[in-house]
Amino acid sequence: MKLRWLLPSLIGTLLLSANAAEAAKLKYWRFNAEQNRIDLITDAGIQPKAQVFLNPTRLVVDLPGTVFGKPKVSQEIGKRIRFVRAAQFNRKTTRLVVELASGYTLSPERVRVRSLSTTRWFVQLPRPERLREQPDQSQRSVDLPVPLPKPAGQVPKVGLVIAVDPGHGGPDSGAVGIGGLQEKRVVFPIATEVVNLLQRQGVKAVLTRTDDREVDLAPRVARAKGFNADAFVSIHANAISLSRPDINGLETYHAPGSTSGARLAQTIHNSILRTVSVQDRGVRQARFYVLRKSSMPAVLVEVGFVTGREDAANLGSVNHRSKLAQAIAEGILRYFQAK
Ligand SMILES: [Zn+2]
Repeated sequence: MKLRWLLPSLIGTLLLSANAAEAAKLKYWRFNAEQNRIDLITDAGIQPKAQVFLNPTRLVVDLPGTVFGKPKVSQEIGKRIRFVRAAQFNRKTTRLVVELASGYTLSPERVRVRSLSTTRWFVQLPRPERLREQPDQSQRSVDLPVPLPKPAGQVPKVGLVIAVDPGHGGPDSGAVGIGGLQEKRVVFPIATEVVNLLQRQGVKAVLTRTDDREVDLAPRVARAKGFNADAFVSIHANAISLSRPDINGLETYHAPGSTSGARLAQTIHNSILRTVSVQDRGVRQARFYVLRKSSMPAVLVEVGFVTGREDAANLGSVNHRSKLAQAIAEGILRYFQAK
């Protein structure tokens, strides 16, 4: 059973010896206390190793073939996790150590070492627990499995925060279209799925409202700012008179004069046009409150017309909404990849 855990590090060793001549440099590391996670970025591909030492408990993450390039750094964390330290361990290895407060431990099998690419790794820690029983003194350390890095592909920025804003809510149903289709019932599932998709890519995504309630515009913007979001993406559905079912299509808005907003809007807009069948009504400028008042790049996507014959049929479909969510999430990631 131990053997299963040893195998990945063996493969890692083989991989590294292939390009041992080139040392990577640790460009960025941070312990995110809110998410109990260490984020790492190197300038060349690496294959970390991880171990949990017991009595007392500490997590050791080694980055073979990596230069730290600085004196030892220690970050004080809090009650359960005392310190996270980073230092050059030997000539070829940078070592990070997470030291738990005395009386606390964590289950090694719940620590996840994962990659977003060969140069971007994160270590997800479980919440440390109070040590209940006398630990087994015979066991001193446990090697953790570290999967091979994800192949290059979608690589979001480490530490990226996205605020996703489902329009309307509660007594404010937004626009009402064909067959009584309500805007709030269209945009909420899309926004929720965008958040889930982004989170699966290692991005911190937050909703400006998490259930069916009315939230004013100012607190939506304030919430995004409070989370220090890198982008604000508001999701709405459009409407015109019920006597114009011929008007259908996608519109994506940004604030006038915002070049980053314009680029984000265009990237999301294109991603949607590639993914679903919808008429292109263009990327547009508007002085909407949420666009004007947001301090980060902000866009508002009108995913279609609830009063439009084609759009209303599509927006009522779970499958179509799901595709819209995928396209929006992909557009957001693409924007930050290109940055
Ligand atoms: Zn709306």
